[in-house]
Amino acid sequence: MIGPCASGSLRGDIGPGDLVVLDQLLDRTWGRSDTFVEHPTVDHVSFADPYCRELSGVLFDAASRAGGWPGGRLHGAGSVVVVQGPRFSTRAESRWYARAGIDVINMTQYPEAYLARELGLCYSGLALVTDRDVGVEGDPDMPPVTIEAAMAVLAENVAHTRSLLATAIPAIPREPGCTCLVSGAPSLRTTTP
Ligand SMILES: [Zn+2]
Repeated sequence: MIGPCASGSLRGDIGPGDLVVLDQLLDRTWGRSDTFVEHPTVDHVSFADPYCRELSGVLFDAASRAGGWPGGRLHGAGSVVVVQGPRFSTRAESRWYARAGIDVINMTQYPEAYLARELGLCYSGLALVTDRDVGVEGDPDMPPVTIEAAMAVLAENVAHTRSLLATAIPAIPREPGCTCLVSGAPSLRTTTP
């Protein structure tokens, strides 16, 4: 499963148009239905590495082989903080996430990535950077994100994303060499690894 998503940058060296292949996630959402396990059995599922390294590697390699990401720069790793939304961040929130070392901000990667993990599916998150969240600290000329500006950058990158997926999907190994399948929720496991 490949999840392209609109994201805001929290770093000066990641800008609108860039692509970040995500490798870590910080969940700041609340109240979302985030499990398929609805029976009394508790499944404690490892989520230390939320994204499939093998699948993410295939996507990064495909983007690199194609001569780089046409929308901007290509980043092979990055962490995302997933916020509840639909409102955008305050300056204090954005500064806090940035100082915690988070690279980009988004509203949809959780629980999507975790639900895939529960099912034992390989999941990769592609952050399409559309904006700089509330701006850049110390730069009063950089305005906070608006939905119109973010959607305009996203629209420009849809064709690039389709092209990347067309290149990457045939390169995905038929037999995964990762541990995503065996890391899923035991009570949901229907396939013998
Ligand atoms: Zn995997």
